[in-house]
Amino acid sequence: MSSLGKVRPHQTQNEGLVFEKSAPGKRGYKLPPLDVPEVDAKAALGSAYREEKAGLPELSEIEIIRHFTRLSTWNYAIDLGMYPLGSCTMKYNPRVNEFVARIEGLADAHPYRPESLAQGVLEVIDLLQRCLIEITGMDTITLQPAAGAHGEFTGILLVRAWHESRGNARRKILIPDSAHGTNPATAAICGYQVENLKSNAQGGIDLEALERQVDEDTAALMLTNPSTLGVFENEIHKIADILHAKGALLYMDGANMNALVGKVRPGDFGVDVMHLNLHKTFSTPHGGGGPGSGPVACKKFLEPFLPTPVLTREQGSGNRDQKTNSELHWEYDRPQSVGRVRAFYGNTGMFIRALAYILANGPDGLRQTTEDAVLNANYIRKNLEDLYELPYKTPSMHEVVFSDKRQAVKGVKTGDIAKRLIDYGFHPYTVSFPLIVHGALMIEPTESESLEELDLFIDAMRSIAKEVEETPDLVKSAPHSTRVSRLDEVQAARKPILRWRPEAK
Ligand SMILES: *Cc1c(COP(=O)(O)O)cnc(C)c1O
Repeated sequence: MSSLGKVRPHQTQNEGLVFEKSAPGKRGYKLPPLDVPEVDAKAALGSAYREEKAGLPELSEIEIIRHFTRLSTWNYAIDLGMYPLGSCTMKYNPRVNEFVARIEGLADAHPYRPESLAQGVLEVIDLLQRCLIEITGMDTITLQPAAGAHGEFTGILLVRAWHESRGNARRKILIPDSAHGTNPATAAICGYQVENLKSNAQGGIDLEALERQVDEDTAALMLTNPSTLGVFENEIHKIADILHAKGALLYMDGANMNALVGKVRPGDFGVDVMHLNLHKTFSTPHGGGGPGSGPVACKKFLEPFLPTPVLTREQGSGNRDQKTNSELHWEYDRPQSVGRVRAFYGNTGMFIRALAYILANGPDGLRQTTEDAVLNANYIRKNLEDLYELPYKTPSMHEVVFSDKRQAVKGVKTGDIAKRLIDYGFHPYTVSFPLIVHGALMIEPTESESLEELDLFIDAMRSIAKEVEETPDLVKSAPHSTRVSRLDEVQAARKPILRWRPEAK
């Protein structure tokens, strides 16, 4: 395997710009002879007429097809192989979801369609709401938020509105040092001070520290469970009790629900409000920048504050649904609502996909999914723990976090190992996160991977560990099989060059 370092980039990786491939006169189409009177475009268009040529590339059809097909292979995708990006749950998105989302009546439903003609899609939304309420053990839900972070924002708005309704919004929100970066950002944008909570040696919340820190000014604790260390918070019910005794609420970041679905329900262990990431746990596509969906589920006492509109069922009204003798309506008149957080009703296409996934799996399938996700993470852990440092010995849930401590002795960092993994055909794991682990390697295989694929990944990681010992420079200069090797990532993010400039060649 280590001979891979000498592999020359595949032709697809050497693809040039479409402009560079252009040659005058090439074309991918042929127009029929003119059968209408010719007009003088310049005279007809007046000042809108452009004098200089647009400079569009000229290519044949097959050249265009090849160009864009090759470019498409520069992106790694779950459809190409394992995507162990920790904290992101890059699971396979079953094709049945796509099939269902494209069913005409659903795909074409316009948000301005009158409610009486939109009962079908409203039933889909209602059924998804009921499924998610059952899965989380909460009382009510809004599907409006468009992503996880947006769900956090909505959830903390609910917390704030509830405290305000009791006369005092309170000032601070507690956040453990193992939290996802979006948590403190959410608290701050909702006008709260963030107070850091130190994790204990097992990677969990230190209950004594929590008791000392919670006071009458604490609005909530935002807790990711399982945490970004992949550790389940065993004493979460006690955490809830400590908060509730001081009138504070427990917010759960449920982005890691892939480790819990079908096994435990946050509503049963004291959580007041939480968000889900449909684009993680419930297999709607993600990684390309959206659209996502971050529903917020909460307990009954927070219901009055939910974003408007809220889906309600009216019994015996229009008799649209013969079975239930009821009709669904959007309710807008909710005086205590935090208001709207998203245009229309949220990303409906994601709801349909998530519901298709839930129904295709059924309760047993969802539980199996959770068990397989946890099993896969622990299989990787067992097969790598002799070569990579495990900073927390607490059992792993859906993901396992190693550190680069042993490889750092040879001057090789987590980022180098991740880049070398690209040469072995895998997407890198999550690098340098969570922050409480120095040089973290955060690996989340998800349930999608077979034993064979997991073994390939383990072989690659073991082979890289060996390379670190024998030829560290090979790892430090990886990847060797891609179009470009090491980018100046800061420069690339801050000063992207988005326009083709022939003179810059
Ligand atoms: C992914 C993630 C988020 C943010 O979700 P987005 O949909 O990316 O906004 C928040 N918390 C945790 C723990 C996550 O893994």
